[in-house]
Amino acid sequence: MKIAMVGTGYVGLVSGVCFSDFGHEVVCIDKDPRKIEMLMRGEVPIYEPGLETVMARNVAAGRLSFTGDLAGAVAGADAVFIAVGTPTRRGDGHADLSYVMAAAEEIAKALTGYCVIVTKSTVPVGTNRQVAEVVSKANPAAEFDVASNPEFLREGAAIDDFMRPDRVVVGVESDRARAVMSDIYRPLFLREFPIVYTDLESAEMIKYAANAFLATKITFINEMAMLCERVGADIKAVSKGMGLDGRIGNKFLHAGPGYGGSCFPKDTNALARIGQDHASPCAITETVIEVNDRVKRRMIDKLVDLCGGSVNGKTVAVLGVTFKPNTDDMREAPALTIVPALVGGGAKVRVVDPQGRREGEHLLPGVDWVEDPYAAAREADALVILTEWNEFRALDLGQMARSMATPRLADLRNIYPPEDVRAAGFEAYVAVGRRGFG
Ligand code: NAD
Repeated sequence: MKIAMVGTGYVGLVSGVCFSDFGHEVVCIDKDPRKIEMLMRGEVPIYEPGLETVMARNVAAGRLSFTGDLAGAVAGADAVFIAVGTPTRRGDGHADLSYVMAAAEEIAKALTGYCVIVTKSTVPVGTNRQVAEVVSKANPAAEFDVASNPEFLREGAAIDDFMRPDRVVVGVESDRARAVMSDIYRPLFLREFPIVYTDLESAEMIKYAANAFLATKITFINEMAMLCERVGADIKAVSKGMGLDGRIGNKFLHAGPGYGGSCFPKDTNALARIGQDHASPCAITETVIEVNDRVKRRMIDKLVDLCGGSVNGKTVAVLGVTFKPNTDDMREAPALTIVPALVGGGAKVRVVDPQGRREGEHLLPGVDWVEDPYAAAREADALVILTEWNEFRALDLGQMARSMATPRLADLRNIYPPEDVRAAGFEAYVAVGRRGFG
């Protein structure tokens, strides 16, 4: 199969690289010349574990290439995937479809024969039909079908998620398009990963419903964590006891500083808008958005309390600012709410993150970037664990506590047992949904 992948972000690049690893001939296109130049030099513009190796292997095999020339890549392709961004539109919470529609129009003009135009970006219900209209209008002679193929990969584990998915969802309305999609995903089908074929609207809906459900699960446990703090229960025990019930499951049941990232915030917002537009409000999702915001802001109160009522003049060391480990993605990270509040409150903030600095430097003005957690903690008044990178999971807490001006710890990912924190010499400690001290 000849595939063109429009957009080389987290989803487009991983999908393009993995499709080439399936044996397809893939050309990845981006309108950002900087990204294309890097890719042509063999460099990966994002941090995603394992991506560089699979990319190099397929470039060397001659199956994978990169270009800024969309028309050249689309001509003769069996399928063109749209994997451009669909950020929240400023002001109203809707998904901004301008990138998708601009790509659709460009693709339309470049079509040379039958082709399936596949939307991989997360898009509201009805978008694939709109894409079909845009293509027909831009090129009335075009011979094509549209297909909806939402992506479920997680940043940080993207290659494995793409190669070993829980399921692949394909919305199609013609046998011809379905045959093309089957050929593309055949390697997964042969390995018995389920492929759900459905109509366009259901495929579009599955993605939003799945993300809103996961955001709800995280927010539910975060809300339980707030209650645990009040009643003296430990959320770790509560999560464990709940998660062992097969109907509930233990994933997405870890209390923390609120969800962030490039998907949950924007997709819950978009779903809430879709519900409002169709006079079928998604009240649960709307509440999740509100509670998540409260959870993030509550973390600021915790840190202020930990510092004795004010962070003014205090040195605070923050470990981790990306929205989760194993990615450099800072989009909607809780750190973007919490760190500016510390800086605004007069704290001197030191930040350590294994991959977040490139993105984080312009998003978090007024902080000092430090390479090493021990250096960050030296003479600090408080230590905050915000992202659970492996590097922060086995710290020598005793060494940290001894080097601090006032040994205080906020473990906002509940990595360390409170008794270990106390034994290490910390005077004050807060976590999420469990008893602190000091
Ligand atoms: P991203 O912002 O990282 O990448 C988008 C890329 O598209 C950019 O490199 C941009 O330059 C390029 N682009 C935009 N318009 C273009 C055009 N006309 N021609 C060529 N290139 C163009 O976005 P992302 O995180 O990869 O997300 C893409 C989509 O996938 C979104 O709809 C998102 O919701 C969805 N999604 C993301 C994830 C994730 O974990 N990031 C997971 C599942 C689904």
